[in-house]
Amino acid sequence: MVTKLAQQGLTDAAVLQAMGSIERHRFVDTALVNQAYEDTSLPIGLGQTISKPGVVCRMLELLRQGRPGHLGRVLEIGTGCGYQAAVLSLLCQEVYSMERLRGLHDKARENLRHLRLANVHLLFGDGMPGYAKGAPYAGIIAAAGGEAVPQAWIDQLAVGGRLVAPVSAGVTSAGKQVLLVIDKTPQGIRQSVMEGVYFVPLKSGIA
Ligand code: SAH
Repeated sequence: MVTKLAQQGLTDAAVLQAMGSIERHRFVDTALVNQAYEDTSLPIGLGQTISKPGVVCRMLELLRQGRPGHLGRVLEIGTGCGYQAAVLSLLCQEVYSMERLRGLHDKARENLRHLRLANVHLLFGDGMPGYAKGAPYAGIIAAAGGEAVPQAWIDQLAVGGRLVAPVSAGVTSAGKQVLLVIDKTPQGIRQSVMEGVYFVPLKSGIA
């Protein structure tokens, strides 16, 4: 899988190494294990999916870009099965990962148990208002796309921090999603629109 990612032009050695050391097959159902190392998203229950490895790799590269070494605290919105949180844990000091669906929050806890990653904090709740207790964050990464990036996320980003999230309306036409990169600089907010992506929707409230 990592070789294929590198062939796609993904070059951040630390991200590739982290992805090479977290076994993705442990995060999907038994029936899907033989597809776990293909570059495809897979169902994880409750209508949600584990993101494509290529997209996880790309987003983590963007998050780290220009900032070599370990990141500080990172907030992840959308724990899902916990795969990306596990990869993140190898790249930053602390991971705060929030999930709005109780069933998936519990599944992620179960999936991550054997890894004993002391720096991953799984939180059950709506990630729309962010998680102020862990702020400010060196990085914020969302695995679900809304119409805009909630202001709370930008507020909780440290100066020098970067946010990577899929967004739809306002940036592109008719429901299409793109990756948005937001840098909080001492001079203010800088926004870059990247390539088109496809993520599950960002939803309010818990279930
Ligand atoms: N990073 C995950 C991808 C999960 S898909 C993985 O590696 O498996 C995105 C997840 O975002 C879904 O589980 C969905 O329930 C969750 N989500 C959507 N809106 C949310 C919100 N407002 N707060 C927290 N989680 C949310």
